[in-house]
Amino acid sequence: MENKGKIYVIGIGPGNLEHMSQRAKDAISESEVIIGYKTYTNLVKDLIENKEVIDSGMRKEIERCNLTLDKALEGKVVAIISSGDSGIYGMAGIMHEVVFDREASIEVEVVPGITASNAAAASLGAPIMHDSCTISLSDLLTDWDLIKKRLECAAMGDFVVSLYNPKSKGRVTQIEEAREIMLKHKKKDTVVGIVKNAKREGENIVITDLEHMLEEDIDMVTMVIIGNEKTYVKNNKMVTPRGYKI
Ligand code: SAH
Repeated sequence: MENKGKIYVIGIGPGNLEHMSQRAKDAISESEVIIGYKTYTNLVKDLIENKEVIDSGMRKEIERCNLTLDKALEGKVVAIISSGDSGIYGMAGIMHEVVFDREASIEVEVVPGITASNAAAASLGAPIMHDSCTISLSDLLTDWDLIKKRLECAAMGDFVVSLYNPKSKGRVTQIEEAREIMLKHKKKDTVVGIVKNAKREGENIVITDLEHMLEEDIDMVTMVIIGNEKTYVKNNKMVTPRGYKI
C-alpha cells in the first residue's frame, strides 16, 4: 500500500499570523501532527486546535526530526515548524539529512517564510537594499574561528551584515568580538539597526552605529543589521542606497 505520509517543514515567519504565508497556513491545516519548539507552536496555537501537538525543547532537533519521520512513515501528514524561514538556521536542512540518513522514502516539502533579517529590515526602513550576508554568532555547531573568518570577509567586502543569534545568557562575548572585527574595516559611524521581536508582539526598533551598538539591549530575540559604507539614517529610517540618481 502506498504511504500517504508527508512531511512539511514550515517557516511560520517572524511571529504573527499576518506575516505567515498562505501556503504555510494551508500546510498546517492539512497536517494531522504538529511538531516544534513550544514558543513556535504557541505562536500558531489558533491554527492547531484539535491536532496532535508535540512540543519539544530547544537542542532536541535530531530527536524532533526522527519523531517527525516516524509519524510520517505511519502514514500521517506531519508539520515540523521553525520561526522565520525553516531553511535559514531552521529545521529544513536537518530534516532532509535525517530522511537521507534513514534512507526513507517520504515526501518532504519545505514551505518558505519571512526570515528575521527581512522582517527587521522592513521595520528599520530599507537597510538590505544592496549586497548582504547573514552570519549566525552561535558557535554551538560552528567553530568560532570560522565565524570570525566570515565576519572578517564580510566586513572587508563592505557587505551589509545581518547577525542572527547575536547574544544569549551564556554567550556574551561574541557580539563584542564581532563588532571589533567589523571596526577593522568599517568606520565607527557605520549605521547599525537593532530590532528586538521584529514583526511580533513587543517589537523594539533602535538605530545606532558601530561605536555605540553595545549600549543597546541585545539578546536571542534580536536581529542586528550592520550597514555598508553608504547606509544612512533619515527621518528615523535606515536606508542603504541601491545607487539610483534621484
Ligand atoms: N529560522 C529563523 C532563524 C532562527 S535563528 C529565521 O529565519 O528567522 C534564531 C535567531 O533569529 C534569533 O537569535 C534572532 O537573532 C533571530 N530572530 C528570529 N526571530 C526574530 C524576530 N522576530 N525578531 C528579531 N530577531 C529574530
